[in-house]
Amino acid sequence: MKAVRFHEHGGPEVLRYEDAPDPVPAPGRVIVRVRACALNHLDLWQRRGLERVRIPLPHISGADVAGEVADGGGTFAAGTRVMLQPGLSCGTCALCRAGRDNECLEYTVLGYMNDGGYAELVSVPVENVIPIPDHVDFVTAAAFPLTFLTAWHMLVTRASLARGETVLVLAGGSGVGQAAIQIARLQGARVFATAGPSKVEATRALGAEEVFDHYADDFSKRVKAATGGRGVDVVVEHVGEATWDRSVRALARGGRLVICGATTGHRANVDLRHLFARQLSLLGSYMGAKSELLQAAQLFFRGVFTPAVDRTFPMSETAQAHLRMADYQQFGKIVLVP
Ligand SMILES: [Zn+2]
Repeated sequence: MKAVRFHEHGGPEVLRYEDAPDPVPAPGRVIVRVRACALNHLDLWQRRGLERVRIPLPHISGADVAGEVADGGGTFAAGTRVMLQPGLSCGTCALCRAGRDNECLEYTVLGYMNDGGYAELVSVPVENVIPIPDHVDFVTAAAFPLTFLTAWHMLVTRASLARGETVLVLAGGSGVGQAAIQIARLQGARVFATAGPSKVEATRALGAEEVFDHYADDFSKRVKAATGGRGVDVVVEHVGEATWDRSVRALARGGRLVICGATTGHRANVDLRHLFARQLSLLGSYMGAKSELLQAAQLFFRGVFTPAVDRTFPMSETAQAHLRMADYQQFGKIVLVP
């Protein structure tokens, strides 16, 4: 098969579009012919190399996949149209059995420590395969799983977002941001967001009531002004160092800050006096459980959620796709097509 691999860590130039061995059929696994694979920031971290993480090389990234079953391992007919659960877990421990598979000790993401979807074929456990209806195209399906799973777990499970509450979504035009706005609206929340100047209008169109420029504004002051001086009940963070202080200041008393990533850096300070006196909650969130993705997928298939697709690139131009993501130029998901 053709695949995009890197043999050493570095810039986009280490990505090679080349021949690679086909995945071998194995019990309990399904081989999928990739029709679309969306990018995530994790792909950039993998390519650059991570402290204290040794990724097996050469490596094929790619967590968000849609395609057709090539070898269904006796479970799915060849040709079945599917998208893939991006979370992999042991399936047998107490946490997996309890439906908390994203807390499994063996939990990992497709295309992280294993080969993912930057290829014509990918092998996954049978429980990671989700059939999709005919009216859902492959590019849109590939844009759905990781960000909607992440945002669902953040808002619904971790932050227990309630009807009528207020939410601030950081970087509303990002993959996680556009998913979080749609989920928060469905939960009946009032939604505010931040975005770069070129993305303000499109972010508002997703359902954000007001969108603040996160480069120019102290958005915490704008949020306070928009909420009668109170602040928001929930902040959805994934930007990290560049926005952390303003995100904490934007919280109302009793507010919850939920964070799933730190694309601009991982160092942050917390004024402990604010934490206790304002009764704040800081909530970490990582991916989400398979059951949550299945719940969110039903809403996607019914047209309640529409993943924002920035643009597609041929898989042979993955380096250009990485550059676009690294520059924060995209609105929504960038998708590779083999
Ligand atoms: Zn497990």
